[in-house]
Amino acid sequence: MQITTTLTSSPTDDARLAEILENPGFGTHFTDHMFTVEWTPTDGWHDARITPYGPLTLDPAAAVLHYAQEIFEGMKAYRHDDGSVWMFRPEANAERMVRSCDRLALPELPADDFVQAVAALVEVDQRFVPSNSGAGEKSLYLRPFMFASEKFLGVRPAEHVTFMVIASPAGAYFKGGAKPVSLWLTEEYTRAGRGGMGAAKTGGNYASSLVAQREAYAHGCDQVVFLDGQEGKYVEELGGMNMYFVFDDGSIVTPETGTILEGITRSSIIELAGKMGHHVTERKFAIDEWRDGVASGRITEVFACGTAAVVTPVGALRTKDGDVPAPASTDLTMRIREALVDVQFGRADDTFGWMK
Ligand code: PMP
Repeated sequence: MQITTTLTSSPTDDARLAEILENPGFGTHFTDHMFTVEWTPTDGWHDARITPYGPLTLDPAAAVLHYAQEIFEGMKAYRHDDGSVWMFRPEANAERMVRSCDRLALPELPADDFVQAVAALVEVDQRFVPSNSGAGEKSLYLRPFMFASEKFLGVRPAEHVTFMVIASPAGAYFKGGAKPVSLWLTEEYTRAGRGGMGAAKTGGNYASSLVAQREAYAHGCDQVVFLDGQEGKYVEELGGMNMYFVFDDGSIVTPETGTILEGITRSSIIELAGKMGHHVTERKFAIDEWRDGVASGRITEVFACGTAAVVTPVGALRTKDGDVPAPASTDLTMRIREALVDVQFGRADDTFGWMK
């Protein structure tokens, strides 16, 4: 893919950038540039460009605004102590985006083009990748996304599609140590059903989760747990993270794929925990097994994982039938978390070849 680059004439000045990188927060500051490429049936992907970051001009009839034909990805670039910048498994995000394209009837963006696009933007805006002296965990969050930009009203796959990448410096998720998140079990709302879009990273899944997330806040909880849509019996995932259950014999279970988003962190942990000597099984996991397992002490840890929080211990689960208390330990959770973060920040050997 041939990319043309037009640099901004008013880059963020050094003092302002230092301020942003000192305390980036999450998702509010953006870099100086953005990547765009367009697709039509006749020309395929064309006009790849990096331009100054700025608002889009979108026709009010653009299909995405009406029919939500849209997908996205979330990934990070990290600065290692020697100053070099690395991305974590970008080709895994590229492949997931291809699967999302297929589900949303969007044109596939070849994985190589995806990786080239994110790498090119990171290169141009590398001064926005925070450094991490000591145990810092700042990174540059990358947001590739694709949407139906064709001007038309009517339900059919768009014939003008736009793929873009924007980037945002991100702070450490854990501010004074890893505090377990509290969860609310929604039994009214589900995230996905058989044949639905659960495995795709598409905006509609997040729009549909908001009301359940609001319910979680109303119950004093941080996040919401969704059950399967068919039987309402099996744990699927959180609004934006996958789940893991640790048993007293050291074995680990994570809900099977199909209707959940197949997290890159989730699949990395399957490999990492395996290497640490833990047997990981992907299977259906009933909500009653959670309740009974914590009560009997068979389940010793519960954790959630995703790009933003990496790995976070799960505390109490609040349900309409009463609370399931926090499991006894967070030991293995924190060891898995350290092992993963050490690879991402270049503090441990990248034996899996994950950093690119
Ligand atoms: N499930 C959902 C619904 C998510 O939004 C995310 C975040 N992308 C995840 C799981 C975790 O995926 P990943 O590890 O690739 O960030």
